[in-house]
Amino acid sequence: MNQQEWNIKARSDSCQVCNKTFADDEVFFSRLDFGEGGYGRRDCCAVCWNDAAKKNALSVWKSVYKLPPPPAPEPLKKETAESLLRELMETEDPANRNTIYILAVMLERRRILVERDVQTREDGVKVRVYEHRKTGETFLVPDPGLKLSELKSVQEEVVARLGGRETGQAEVGAAPVESKETP
Ligand SMILES: [Zn+2]
Repeated sequence: MNQQEWNIKARSDSCQVCNKTFADDEVFFSRLDFGEGGYGRRDCCAVCWNDAAKKNALSVWKSVYKLPPPPAPEPLKKETAESLLRELMETEDPANRNTIYILAVMLERRRILVERDVQTREDGVKVRVYEHRKTGETFLVPDPGLKLSELKSVQEEVVARLGGRETGQAEVGAAPVESKETP
């Protein structure tokens, strides 16, 4: 069974019950559930959000819809913690499990991702439900349960990986770890 381990679920631009397009700054609700096809996400306007809409949801949360910004003029693709996370989540290679987790934690510290929920799967694995503050996407990241000693070496590995890709470019905000987090 090829069950997707990691998953990014896009935010909808309209209510999935009444199909009304969300307006800028409109409050809406999201639900996450787990079925035969893996994780599923539904977004719903405040009018349609009722007990029936919430029924059997694994997680529910409330957000404010922000109109997506126009595509940035970015001719040079730069590798960042975020682009690396997206790339690794697409590969679905279990060897990337620890790296994916560390990148998600880094992005949470930088307030790019916000943790919405933590779920425990039937096999005991904890899955952290992150939401991207700007795009509203949901990132489902299994927590590999790293010990503190392991955290450090994985973090160094990630920093090296980002450093290798970011050579020659002194980008603002590209520092992979906040030094204040280092004991
Ligand atoms: Zn609706």
